[in-house]
Amino acid sequence: MNILVIEDERNLANAICRILEDAGYNAEACYDGKSGLVSAESGLYDAIVLDVMLPGLSGFELVHELRHERNAVPVLMLTARTATTDKVEGLDAGADDYMTKPFEAPELLARLRALLRRQGEVVLDELEFADLTLDLTTHDLRCAGRSVHLSGKEFEVMRMLMSGKARVVSKQDLLTRVWGTDGEISENSAEAYVSFLRKKLTHLKSEAQITTLRMIGYRLEVLPAAK
Ligand code: CA
Repeated sequence: MNILVIEDERNLANAICRILEDAGYNAEACYDGKSGLVSAESGLYDAIVLDVMLPGLSGFELVHELRHERNAVPVLMLTARTATTDKVEGLDAGADDYMTKPFEAPELLARLRALLRRQGEVVLDELEFADLTLDLTTHDLRCAGRSVHLSGKEFEVMRMLMSGKARVVSKQDLLTRVWGTDGEISENSAEAYVSFLRKKLTHLKSEAQITTLRMIGYRLEVLPAAK
């Protein structure tokens, strides 16, 4: 499980990361709202621990933006403020739970576990891009009345490509997220699955294509010539 911590007080951010790592999660920190939003949109994280008072973009604005993009990643908001209006504002903006600082490590972990358990209830059932719809329950990819079923790994690759704003996925992120860190995985595995997906997109006659970004990874896009 990958957890993103967005908190501008570096000591606290790093302490939260240590708590999470000690509990067996992978944790990464962002120290301001704008870079936090970019990371949150990457599709790489299973949950986000989000401070309210951040430079650049507040936690309220950040979670509001995520939900506006139909990104359903579970969000646990942290704040030093205890006013009820803040709690209401946070939940209204789309946070899933709320915790006031200071807090104890066991409470943070308990709330996170509860959020991750409930994740199945908050995830979206479909992702859309251009003329494509990916059904997250059945793993069917649809386009204008046509439909193909995606295998487990194809589905994970397509879901990453369709998540997030830029729809750019690095090969390294793809391998880590879809195949995990163990096992003998080469970049050829990613290439092979992208190639399967390209054939399926052709079969669907979709206007969307997966392009290779040299040395970077892949992007799902509609090329001007294909419009
Ligand atoms: Ca702060």
